[in-house]
Amino acid sequence: MATLDGEACSYGDEEPPNVSYPSVAPPLVRPLCSPQRSRAFAVADLSAPGDFVGLPSRIADRTRVFRKLFFPEVADRQWNGWQWQLRHRIRTLAELEAMLALTNEERSALSRSGGNLPVGITPYYLSLLARDDGVQPLRRTVIPVPQEFYRAPGEADDPLGEEADSPVPGIIHRYPDRALLLVTDFCSSYCRYCTRSRVVGNGQITPQEQRLQSAFDYLRATPGIRDVLVSGGDPLVLSDGWLDWILTSLRQIPHVEILRLGTKTPAVLPQRITPQLCRMLRKHHPLWMSLHFIHPDECTPESLLACTRLANAGIPLGAQTVLLKGVNDDLPTMKNLFHRLLMMRVRPYYLYQCDPIAGSAHFRTPVARGLEILEGLRGFTTGYAVPHYVIDAPGGGGKIPLQPNYVVGRDGDDLLLRNYEGKTFHYPDPVP
Ligand code: SF4
Repeated sequence: MATLDGEACSYGDEEPPNVSYPSVAPPLVRPLCSPQRSRAFAVADLSAPGDFVGLPSRIADRTRVFRKLFFPEVADRQWNGWQWQLRHRIRTLAELEAMLALTNEERSALSRSGGNLPVGITPYYLSLLARDDGVQPLRRTVIPVPQEFYRAPGEADDPLGEEADSPVPGIIHRYPDRALLLVTDFCSSYCRYCTRSRVVGNGQITPQEQRLQSAFDYLRATPGIRDVLVSGGDPLVLSDGWLDWILTSLRQIPHVEILRLGTKTPAVLPQRITPQLCRMLRKHHPLWMSLHFIHPDECTPESLLACTRLANAGIPLGAQTVLLKGVNDDLPTMKNLFHRLLMMRVRPYYLYQCDPIAGSAHFRTPVARGLEILEGLRGFTTGYAVPHYVIDAPGGGGKIPLQPNYVVGRDGDDLLLRNYEGKTFHYPDPVP
């Protein structure tokens, strides 16, 4: 099927239906930043024309070996094209069986039906998985296991109460001055711990003009909203034309000051971050992006190039990371991830305690583990590498920040503070 700007693409059976292409009005807000090239960041500067094609040094070794084994006939131009990656997503037990040495648990889960989440993995992301290691961190995040079918006490399909905060389809309005706009339920790869597993991949949220117009109407009629986060699913699976139209429509709402995009694309489908996409995105500044990264193994030459392109388009990049048992719940892994993100010009922004969605107990750690990790970062590394650790409160309470306690008491007019080394310091703070 053809996407809206004529890019050939097939998403498989959960693909949003093809719909007519709305006309793109010129944005009312002019770009605040002119495109600039970073001279300081030599690792993946963008002076090379074109996209990922012909950049062998920017391909991870593991990916190169995988391609040789399973896609030997596929040319660089195809492999490095995002639509090729989408069309060739790995989705079945038979395909996975051919490419990975599946464990009995994985095979059993893949044979079952009735789970919330579909299986879908881009060839690129699959190339980062260990063929023979069933507990490799990245593998655990995209290959189902039987625990996914078990609902533990306290778990729910919609633990954050998003449906209750949805005044019109596609809008979640929880906080006073900002709203979430869900534009698609499709993702190029499905994370087994997804907060929106109740909706992603089921084909009900589509970039349909009428549905989006009613969401825009709501935003237009709600002057308190100054910040719109465009999310899904993953909005970057939409064509440039659709995204341009959505962002342009939002820009035409006078009280919307900033736009944000939430996406895992730079980690799972970095080929999508083309120069053309970046040229389009930078028309819509101030535009911020929240990138979903969970493990240092996702920080490849390909994702570095993707993030560099976005950063060079003037887009401030923040990372959202979910704390996941057996994936990233130890200090060295987390520190490594955050350091790599900073090298990719992505500021670790939120560390989320894993939401109690149905079938996620095997991913959740005690909250104490998150606090330990935070304590091991604060003072021991760059402040920018220390994210906000939050719990998204079940029932729609919003994000609640958590941090180790550094205020240890009072001594008369002094506050007693503990520093990162555990030493106590006095700070004059007379009681009023
Ligand atoms: S990319 Fe985001 S929306 Fe899609 S499955 Fe992963 S966590 Fe869910």
